[in-house]
Amino acid sequence: MGVPARGVDGERQRIPGTLRPVPHRVFPMTLPKIDLRSDTVTKPAPAMLEAMLRAEVGDDVLGEDPTVARLQSEAASMFGMPAALFCPSGTMTNQIAIRVHTRPGDEVICSDLAHIYLYEGGGIAANSGASVRLLGGDRGRFTAEAVQSAINKRTDAHLPWTRLVAIENTVNKGGGACWEFAELERIRSVCDAHDLAFHLDGARLFNALAATGESPRRFGALFDTISICLSKGLGAPVGSLLLGSTEQIARAHRLRKLFGGGMRQAGYLAAAGLYALEHHLTRLVDDHAAACAAAALLPSLPWVESVLPVESNLVIFRLQAGTRAEAVLAHLAHHGVQASTMGSDLVRFVFHLDVPAGAVERIHAAVRSFAG
Ligand SMILES: *Cc1c(COP(=O)(O)O)cnc(C)c1O
Repeated sequence: MGVPARGVDGERQRIPGTLRPVPHRVFPMTLPKIDLRSDTVTKPAPAMLEAMLRAEVGDDVLGEDPTVARLQSEAASMFGMPAALFCPSGTMTNQIAIRVHTRPGDEVICSDLAHIYLYEGGGIAANSGASVRLLGGDRGRFTAEAVQSAINKRTDAHLPWTRLVAIENTVNKGGGACWEFAELERIRSVCDAHDLAFHLDGARLFNALAATGESPRRFGALFDTISICLSKGLGAPVGSLLLGSTEQIARAHRLRKLFGGGMRQAGYLAAAGLYALEHHLTRLVDDHAAACAAAALLPSLPWVESVLPVESNLVIFRLQAGTRAEAVLAHLAHHGVQASTMGSDLVRFVFHLDVPAGAVERIHAAVRSFAG
């Protein structure tokens, strides 16, 4: 065999007194797993852990954690918004925002694919007592006209008051679709004309910014509140931020306590977030390139019906009738590739900073060998 035997220190080993190499030993070669189930599966690398270890901390419920304060002020200024609040999850930042903007009996306009509606445990009803008006659209993106026609007149006592429009960018269930900024501006105008708040679920906003080249400040100027996640593509272990006006964030701070999200020496987590904002933004385009490359082969496979356009780090594809998503997942897992489903005929791949080198080729080999 052509592979030289090597000791643990990487030196080629020789039997003392001879020039013959040690007989070749086969080490079990395990390829790293490719976990595409979500961009939440990332683990902090040593440099991020270092930053966490070095964090200066205090009791953040008492407002004494300098690292949390720094993360909040840096994120707020990045978006040109007055204030920010560090929370344990993106679900909490979204749900707090909805509660800030609504009162029981109000109505929230959002997409029928929205995370706040589908995947937050019914929180709009449970936490805020609000109802929902769902809009269809193109991969989770709707028009200003659709918003306009979904607004209830406040003069009619029968109707719930429309109080909030919430959008998601990128759209998770839309395969990572990015909004056209011009459409968002038109929706803002409708909100202004009808006294509606405008919230952005930006769990993957940084992916949208990386994909389109837009600036955070443009988004900060358009929305009343923005939720961003540090624990998705940015690779921090925990944490999301809610951005908004000083008044809204003061109210959000009170609601965070009510929701049980006040954390004590949270600076250790905030330090990971600061590290992520500093080091993991520019690399997001690499995830997008990997997603594109991995998706390129899919349309040619007989068991794939269609692939949603790839705009960021998500790939969602629909299976031909007769192909079960569970069978695809089991086959991929057998080849070291973990994926997830979004319904019985949709498979999702999510690219992130812990996807190992060489993954695209291995993904291609795995999907190619599936019989359908
Ligand atoms: C992940 C995600 C959230 C928040 O999820 P948490 O797991 O609660 O942090 C919110 N919106 C979207 C679109 C998401 O993908």
